[in-house]
Amino acid sequence: MPDVTFFAIRPAAAIANLAPENIMVHLDQPRPSLDHILNRRHKMLIGGAWVDARDGGLIDVEDPATGEIIAHAAAGESADIDAAVKAARRAFEGPWSRLAPMQRTALMLKLADILEAHSEEFAHIETFDVGQPLAISRPSTLGAPNTLRYFAGWASKLTGETMTPLVPGNWHAYTLREPVGVVGLIVPWNAPYTSTLNKLGALLAAGCTVVIKPAEQTPLATVRMGEFIQQAGFPDGVVNIVTGYGHTAGDALVRHPDVDKISFTGSTETGKLVLKTAAETMKRVTLELGGKSPIVILPDADLDKAIEAAALGIYRNSGQICVAGSRLFAHRDVFDRVVDGVAAYADRMKVGPGLEPGVEIGPLVSRVQMDRVVRLIGEGRSDGARVVTGGDRIGDKGYFVRPTVLVDTTPQMSVRREEIFGPVLCAASFADNDLEAIARDANDTSFGLAATIWTRDISAAHKLAKMIKAGSIKINSREFPEQSMPFGGLKQSGIGRERGREGVEEYTELKSVIVGL
Ligand code: NAD
Repeated sequence: MPDVTFFAIRPAAAIANLAPENIMVHLDQPRPSLDHILNRRHKMLIGGAWVDARDGGLIDVEDPATGEIIAHAAAGESADIDAAVKAARRAFEGPWSRLAPMQRTALMLKLADILEAHSEEFAHIETFDVGQPLAISRPSTLGAPNTLRYFAGWASKLTGETMTPLVPGNWHAYTLREPVGVVGLIVPWNAPYTSTLNKLGALLAAGCTVVIKPAEQTPLATVRMGEFIQQAGFPDGVVNIVTGYGHTAGDALVRHPDVDKISFTGSTETGKLVLKTAAETMKRVTLELGGKSPIVILPDADLDKAIEAAALGIYRNSGQICVAGSRLFAHRDVFDRVVDGVAAYADRMKVGPGLEPGVEIGPLVSRVQMDRVVRLIGEGRSDGARVVTGGDRIGDKGYFVRPTVLVDTTPQMSVRREEIFGPVLCAASFADNDLEAIARDANDTSFGLAATIWTRDISAAHKLAKMIKAGSIKINSREFPEQSMPFGGLKQSGIGRERGREGVEEYTELKSVIVGL
């Protein structure tokens, strides 16, 4: 495997650096039983009780490697959302607000330990539900409890400030930082376990309560997490889980007048809809949206590393990663070597069902997603792009698309403009080291989520980091989630930040208090 070393299992707590290549996972662990997950009808967690949708609706949950139905989730609708919001409000105003910050920390640490003990189970759930190969789901689920541990520490470190008013007189002026209240979390399907924990950790540390609405395609890990949230001892109603479709349950959550904030991760298209709907009740909103992130390779770069990073940056999780480096810009002196290197890497990668040993690229999450990716590749072809490798679906069972490299693309083509969210790299060259021209190419997109720069010229690297409009920049490193650093999008890639102190503060409000002494 190119990016994960498999030889020993280490407790996640002992892992200092969570870059996927630094997490070691044992390959030969016994497969955990999923009898309680597969072929079951799953309920929703509302106010501490496991309930069916009020109107009895169900969602088919598919294994994208086979297209077969593997479980059913409740199809919650607005009445279920209303019950969950009421439970979250009761918990927020009741037991949760009475806990001291250190008690919240203790509960979060306990939950992290429980989740860590079940990380192999969660890895398998994600592999069944999302299609992720175990090579991806294992390090992700093993590392994810550290997200909770990181945020647990913030519960006791949120503070206001004291100020000196401009008006003459004797004053005591200060700010209070308070939890925003009841939060609605809306999560996409590409990494449900880790993206839910990212948000959950921050909002629990801030003292909020929550209604989680997982993506309809991938509800299983979140529902299972609910059992462990109860086991850890969180008061009823602090965390509620309503599975359901976006246009019903998701929309009802965004409209609900007693939800104080929506934290949404998903497509830019849906994000715009959420923003408009949330405006009606003036909710606070954080939006983590799509991307079309550039990888810039200058001629002096360490090409072996840059090529491997470019390939993994777009093919990991079958390209279904918001920060996937989908537009590659390489200097013309190294362009052919880079393109051939990435194409050769793509051809070596084993594509198949995520449970099969050695598989590095799994299926896309659904037929809809596969059809979209294949359609966009077709559009690229008819617009004049040349397929260096890949370009088609594999077989007729499951939703597999061959890792693809396209060249001769122009900025006007849909493959260069739209977020494909599949294993498709568009490569283009630039003629000289004119940093302004390179930045113009990189910035020629409506998105601004992430960017990667490869060069040994430290000054060029930092200049480009300033010039490229993206919320997160990696220099001589592959993109990986770093909890301590704020993460979010510029332009149409989103509003607000997750992770780091800023990520917790997104779930708070500031209140000003002035005392005349
Ligand atoms: P999506 O926008 O279709 O769905 C995301 C979530 O929104 C799902 O839970 C869905 O049920 C819900 N939803 C759909 N319609 C809704 C509505 N009208 N009101 C409220 N909720 C609604 O996105 P997706 O296809 O599930 O996920 C892929 C997208 O997510 C990509 O664009 C990707 O870039 C983005 N993403 C962004 C980040 C980030 O941090 N920036 C991370 C992961 C994924």
